[in-house]
Amino acid sequence: MTKLTEHIEKKVRKTIRQYKLFNHKSKILMAVSGGKDSTVCVYLLKKLGYDVEAITIDASIGDYTETNLKNIKKVCKKYEIKLHVISFREEFGKSLCYMRDVLRTKGHKYSSCMLCGILKRYLLNKYARELKADVLATGHNLDDEAQAFLMNVFKNDFFLAKKQGPKSDQVSKRFIPRVKPLYLISEEEALQFSKQMKFPVKYGICPCSVGAHRRKHKNILDELEKKNPGVKYSVIRFQEEMKLKLKKVKKAKVNLCECGEPTKVKICRVCQIFKELEL
Ligand code: SF4
Repeated sequence: MTKLTEHIEKKVRKTIRQYKLFNHKSKILMAVSGGKDSTVCVYLLKKLGYDVEAITIDASIGDYTETNLKNIKKVCKKYEIKLHVISFREEFGKSLCYMRDVLRTKGHKYSSCMLCGILKRYLLNKYARELKADVLATGHNLDDEAQAFLMNVFKNDFFLAKKQGPKSDQVSKRFIPRVKPLYLISEEEALQFSKQMKFPVKYGICPCSVGAHRRKHKNILDELEKKNPGVKYSVIRFQEEMKLKLKKVKKAKVNLCECGEPTKVKICRVCQIFKELEL
């Protein structure tokens, strides 16, 4: 191990303890994409002796998802991590691009990432529950968290900003809490870790994310960080302070959709999308 990989491993161990993300008795389902962050994360959880299985959702985005799937299969095989592969086509009978295009022709403005995110979150929660996981871990890093917070501020979405953090609340028995072991690891650190470990990872971005809203926020933050190192940490600290002060604010009520998934409103967003596809 190098100094950097040791430092990152120590920081992840500390994050898990500090935020009480899980313990050695917990069953962890790790959402992996084949990208650097989730690969680093699942490797570290296994190395640290946790009971972890991996799940990947194939959104059928051509070569991009094919290569990622091949890579994550290699990683899981090498480190003896059980991998569950779920695909949009098998689950929904349609690919992401097809659903996005049909919705657009019907006048609904879903971007690829928005639609992909909604559908993936739905499947991940469903399978985490079916596989009896105590928590669903994701590879979100410090940069992702800071970007998401800024996006919520810019949209004035107080509800979503308040929900952010290293561990989500268990708002319903049918909702499996999400945890982010890389919460305090920067994107650059995850990248260096992955490169030093020589993980089979395709570096680069998903072709569907070109022009995505989130990328603009990423560029703004990267630019600010270059001029004022530590800005991303400050955003995270601000978010934590805010959450602490708002702890006493009443939580939003969670309903069950007709499909059985938890939702803030009457019908969950996935059922809503399928209703829109049928109209
Ligand atoms: S970048 Fe967007 S479209 Fe691509 S896998 Fe991620 S959420 Fe899905």
